Amino acid sequence: MDDCIFCRIVEGKIPARKVYEDEHVLAFHDIAPQAPVHVLVIPKVHVRSIMELEDEGLAGKIVTGIRNVARELNLDEKGFRVVNNMGQDGGQTVFHIHFHLLGGRTLTWPPG
Ligand code: 5GP
Ligand code: ZN
Repeated sequence: MDDCIFCRIVEGKIPARKVYEDEHVLAFHDIAPQAPVHVLVIPKVHVRSIMELEDEGLAGKIVTGIRNVARELNLDEKGFRVVNNMGQDGGQTVFHIHFHLLGGRTLTWPPG
């Protein structure tokens, strides 16, 4: 999709600090980090939100990508948080599905 920032990152038209990539999934550092580690994990194909993520195979590949990123960034022992914001009340601002992987400090609960 031409007007989607994350599709443009996948295409290499907008730069991003990539941390992980495989055939289906890309992960890169968030431009406005909310924790010492704040990475966005996205499918390479355009899917608007979790409500449109109907391909269960792709959903599984995203989860595998999240695990691989966590291992690569050494978060797997201490832990981390995965967040998906959906729609207006969820606080979604980019309408290409993405999973925030947050870590590197003890995270508080509940979120705001
Ligand atoms: P949302 O609010 O939709 O859950 O999260 C969107 C996230 O994308 C935000 O945390 C925001 O900082 C991040 N973001 C927006 N534009 C860019 C960009 O051009 N590059 C990167 N790396 N992150 C972005
Ligand atoms: Zn997109």
